Amino acid sequence: MTSPKKQIESHSLMPFIDLKAQLARLRSNIESAIKRVLDHGTFIMGPEVYTLEEQLKTFCEVKHAIACSNGTDALNLGLMAYQVGPGDAVFVPSFTFAATAEVVVWRGAVPIFVDVLESSYNMDPDSLEQGIRYAKSLGLAPKGIIPVDLFGQPADYDTIQSIAHKNCLWIIADSAQSFGATYKTKKVGNIGNIATTSFFPAKPLGCYGDGGAVFTNDDDLAVLIQSLRIHGQGKEKYDNVRIGINGRLDTIQAAILIEKLKVFPDELIVRQEIADTYFRGLQGILKTPFLQKDVTSSWAQYTVCLPETVCRKKLMEKLQSVGIPTVVYYEKPLHLQTAYRQYPTATGKGLPQCEKLSHVVLSLPISGYMHEAERIICALRKFI
Ligand SMILES: *Cc1c(COP(=O)(O)O)cnc(C)c1O
Repeated sequence: MTSPKKQIESHSLMPFIDLKAQLARLRSNIESAIKRVLDHGTFIMGPEVYTLEEQLKTFCEVKHAIACSNGTDALNLGLMAYQVGPGDAVFVPSFTFAATAEVVVWRGAVPIFVDVLESSYNMDPDSLEQGIRYAKSLGLAPKGIIPVDLFGQPADYDTIQSIAHKNCLWIIADSAQSFGATYKTKKVGNIGNIATTSFFPAKPLGCYGDGGAVFTNDDDLAVLIQSLRIHGQGKEKYDNVRIGINGRLDTIQAAILIEKLKVFPDELIVRQEIADTYFRGLQGILKTPFLQKDVTSSWAQYTVCLPETVCRKKLMEKLQSVGIPTVVYYEKPLHLQTAYRQYPTATGKGLPQCEKLSHVVLSLPISGYMHEAERIICALRKFI
């Protein structure tokens, strides 16, 4: 099996997302930041949480940033603020991580799965309109839309916004993967009625555990979400005025995020450089990601589409054998997954683009610390 030539070529497996290199750069600052929290001892809602919220507000150019426990709870807090419940329909893309639809089910509402565009992998506005008609025909009350900024690129918000407006729907932007990206003149976080993000370690801005945030320009929603995040507390600590959740961000995670946010703009530049290198190097052998006009991506993933003649599994094995890890996001669209099959799709039938993409997509290594794009391009050119 292993010819001498192959042995020479083989490499130890590089990390898919290089968090160790980032830690090496930031270690002493992060250790000091954690030590400061250990010294002051306010582990819950300590000063770092409020500092981080101020910095997130500035970074996203939005009026309110509310740190919370994770990206899933961030979405859930948005739905709770809008009092989503039984009989309501919420429109979500099917080509996404399960959390986007899961929170809708938590609230007793019905997620309606919408198809995505083959070009951007994001919510297809035509499919959304079809879904709204279909939900009404099922006797459901359309309430809102959760577009996802898949792999780091914001969805087509102008078009989605006009559909939302026409149908009196709110938008909660699931920006778990796109923190740091921009849509026309707006930063992610300052899009939709509410935007949410995740600080899961592998996201563009990640902490060392679970974390997330909710963003809004609406003062009333902000007050509501701040209360919901801490068990529905009112002005007096022991008079809870509504049913909420335990949805706080730990002070230690906030302290870590403050340090990581300092280098985040540099990391976004490196991610863009890698994306540019991939784009130039991979032309003609596969489909590189398409960006809409006047939109930037935070490149949470660099996801390509393979020609249908290429066996993805074999290609992944060959890449693995030369030390290059790849991942399939996502093998199965949500509307085909066991827990979600029972919920309606926008068409009442299949979602052709989601289904097609799930067979041909492949995500390549990318991070603010990856220097092997050229080698990965050579390997892909050789193996395809
Ligand atoms: C990661 C992710 C979430 C959930 O974030 P957690 O912090 O892991 O709860 C939600 N939506 C999308 C699209 C994600 O990628």
